[in-house]
Amino acid sequence: MEKREELYSGKAKSVYTTDEADKLVLEFRDDTSAFDGKKKEKLSRKGMVNNRFNAFIMDKIAAAGIETHHISLLSDHESLVKKLDMIPVECVVRNIAAGSICRRLGVEEGLDLNPPTFEFFLKNDELGDPMINEFHIRSFGWAEAEHIEKMKTLTFAVNDVLKELFLAGGMLLVDYKLEFGLFEGRVVLGDEFSPDGCRLWDQQTREKLDKDRFRQGLGGVVEAYEEVGRRIGIQFD
Ligand code: 5GP
Repeated sequence: MEKREELYSGKAKSVYTTDEADKLVLEFRDDTSAFDGKKKEKLSRKGMVNNRFNAFIMDKIAAAGIETHHISLLSDHESLVKKLDMIPVECVVRNIAAGSICRRLGVEEGLDLNPPTFEFFLKNDELGDPMINEFHIRSFGWAEAEHIEKMKTLTFAVNDVLKELFLAGGMLLVDYKLEFGLFEGRVVLGDEFSPDGCRLWDQQTREKLDKDRFRQGLGGVVEAYEEVGRRIGIQFD
C-alpha cells in the first residue's frame, strides 16, 4: 500500500488517498481545537496518543460485531482505513449531562440520564454544528430512514461496549460523538474515537480526563489522555 496525495485536512486529522481506491490513510496530527476551531494549539504527543487510542477502541468495537472503517495502525501517527461515503451528521449519546445539553436545557452538569439520551448534529463548523432531527436528515437528503435507524442502533451498541470498558478502568463514559459513512451500502463507523470526541470522568473524583481539559484550560491534556489509555490497557511507548 502506497500513501498518495492529501485529500482533506481537518482540525486534528489529515486524510490521504492510497494506491487502492477503497482505502485511505488517516494522519493524526498534534493540532488540537475547540469551539468550532476558534481555540487552537499544538500539543506534543497528542497525534500519536489519539492514533493508538483510536486503533485500540476501534478493535474493541469491531470485536463486539460492529463494523468500523479501521483496518490497521501504520505508524505512530497514521492508520489505514476503508474509504467511506461519509454521512454529514454527528451522533451523540449522553449517559450523564455535561456540555451543550446543560446550556441548552438548563440542566445541571453531572445529572444521570436514564435512559441515555441521543442527539443528532449537523457537521458544519461555519454553522457551529447545529442540533438537527431525523426529519431534517431526511428532508435535506443527508441520509435515508433505514440508515438513520442503523446509526442510532450502532451508536447505542457502542455505548454498551465502551461504558463497560471504561468502568473497568474506574471511569465514567459521560458522552461521545460518532460519525458514520456508507461502505458497499452498509452503515459503517468512521472518523475516530478518542478523548477528543468524548467525555470521561474519574469514577470516584469526577475529575475530567478528556478534551474538556483543553476547552476549559485545565492543562495536562495529553497526560490525561495517556492516563485513560493506560487504565484500559493501552501501551504508548
Ligand atoms: P457537546 O454537544 O456537549 O458539545 O458534545 C457532546 C459530546 O460530543 C462531547 O463528548 C464532545 O467531545 C463530542 N463532540 C461534539 N461535537 C464534536 C466535534 O465537532 N468534534 C469533536 N471532536 N467532538 C465533538
